[in-house]
Formats: sequence, C-alpha cells, structure tokens
Amino acid sequence: MSKNVLITGSTSGIGLGIAREFARAGYNISFNGLEKNGAEIAAAVGKEFGVKTFFSDANLMDPAAIEKYIGETEKNLGHVDVLVNNAGIQFVSEIENFPVEKWNAIIALNLTAAFHTTRLVLGGMKQRNWGRVINIASAHGLVASEFKSAYVAAKHGIVGFTKVTALEGAPFGITANSVCPGYVDTPLVRGQVADQAKTHNMSEEDVIAKVMLMKHAVKKFVKTESLGALCVFLASDHAELITGTAIPVDGGWNAQ
Ligand code: NAD
Repeated sequence: MSKNVLITGSTSGIGLGIAREFARAGYNISFNGLEKNGAEIAAAVGKEFGVKTFFSDANLMDPAAIEKYIGETEKNLGHVDVLVNNAGIQFVSEIENFPVEKWNAIIALNLTAAFHTTRLVLGGMKQRNWGRVINIASAHGLVASEFKSAYVAAKHGIVGFTKVTALEGAPFGITANSVCPGYVDTPLVRGQVADQAKTHNMSEEDVIAKVMLMKHAVKKFVKTESLGALCVFLASDHAELITGTAIPVDGGWNAQ
C-alpha cells in the first residue's frame, strides 16, 4: 500500500517541489497552502503521477485549523506516514524596528505550527512503529544574517525541536531531521534577480553570483527537486539511522 505524506505549504515553491518528488516515488500527498488555485495544483500533481491527493487551505497560524486539517487528511487519505513541515514566511528589519506582529507571525508559522502538526501525528506513528518527520529549516537554522531576527530565531528553534522529536521517536522507528537550504530557485527569487539586475544595471548572472549568492561557495541556486529527492531519501528505510540531524544544502555556506 502506498504511504501518505503531509506537506505544509506545498502549493508553491519548495513545498511543491518536494510534493512532486514524493508523488514521483508513489506517495499519496496531503497538500496545504494559501494559493487560490491550490486544489487545482494538487489535482494536477495527482493526475501526472497517478497518486491520491488531498488539499486544504488551512491557515497554520491557527492550531484548531491544523487539528482539522490533520483529521481531514486521515479521513481522505489515511494516516500520516511522513510529515514535512515546510510552510514559512520571512520579514526583514533591524531588531529595534521589527514589527511585533511580524515577529509573532513568523514564530507562529515557522516554529509553532510544526509543533502542532508533530504532536498531532506522533502518537499514531508510535503506535505503528514507523514514521518520518522532516522539517524544512534553512541555512539560517545554523547561522545568522543581520535583519532576520525572527526568521533566524524560528529556524534555530525548529532545528532544536527536530532533535527532541528524534530522541522521543527513536524507540518507535520514527526519525526526525531538518533540511537546511541556502538560496533556492523559486519563481519569487527569479523575479528578484531580474529586478535587481535592472536596479543595479548588472547582468542577471552577476546579480546571482555577487549579490544573491554572496554566501554560497558554489554560485548556484538550490533546486527544489534536489530538496525533494533528499526528503524522499530521508523517508526511505535506507535512512533509518539518519536522525536528529540538520542537513545543509547550501553550496558550502556553512563550511565558512
Ligand atoms: P513560498 O512562499 O514559495 O511557499 C510558502 C508556502 O507556505 C506557500 O504554499 C504558502 O501558501 C504557504 N503558507 C504561507 N503562510 C501560510 C499559512 N499561514 N498557512 C498555511 N500555509 C501558508 O516559499 P518557499 O521559498 O518555497 O519556502 C518554503 C520553506 O522553505 C519556508 O519554510 C522557508 O523558510 C524555507 N526556505 C526557503 C529558502 C528559499 O531560498 N526560498 C531557503 C531556505 C529555506
């Protein structure tokens, strides 16, 4: 029987890339995200790869909505074998002017939502003696950059939470790992490259190498499908002893 994976924030960017690789590997997917065409995106992936899908636009800032979403997934697809906490937002400002509501929103989505999804699926995983929790942190889960206080705090937090999940899950065949991407090739990032090239009168290649990927040793964006392939591997039985880790996929940023 096919396994089920629940991926938050999976109707855009990295989450969608991860969903596509799990679908390619034959998993049924529980999609979530705020994109207006989320249901169509989920259905299209299901059709392309011949797997079952479910979609919910649950706002993960709301614990009651998270609980409802998990229940609906179980009703429509069955239990959650693999949980990928991916949904996240960013805001950039110096600390003294960081809007309090932005701080609260980033902590609520990038950190607390993952606590709620995890606490709601872990009991079932323990009963079945098998489970995988994969948290999409960031290179900013391991190092800091100025002006990203809430994001860096939340991402360091999720790396710590992942380690606790790994220890509590270990006796029950459950692994938990963080994936820590550098800059990822998403439509949003590509748009920024084009804008900055115009603003600075630079070629797009120079913007990528000298501005955006300043901290990458390898001057390339991470591909969403590479992150998806890593997640599929972490969910496999070959990865049963990889747990409690934070895996950088950042072109050598963390080596410096
Ligand atoms: P994205 O904006 O393309 O996708 C984010 C997804 O989260 C979307 O589907 C969006 O609808 C959903 N979402 C946002 N707020 C939500 C809410 N309140 N409730 C439910 N869903 C919500 O972003 P992305 O670049 O694909 O980022 C995905 C994850 O990867 C984030 O956790 C981000 O921090 C992390 N990350 C991104 C990069 C990068 O370069 N893009 C690098 C490292 C880590």
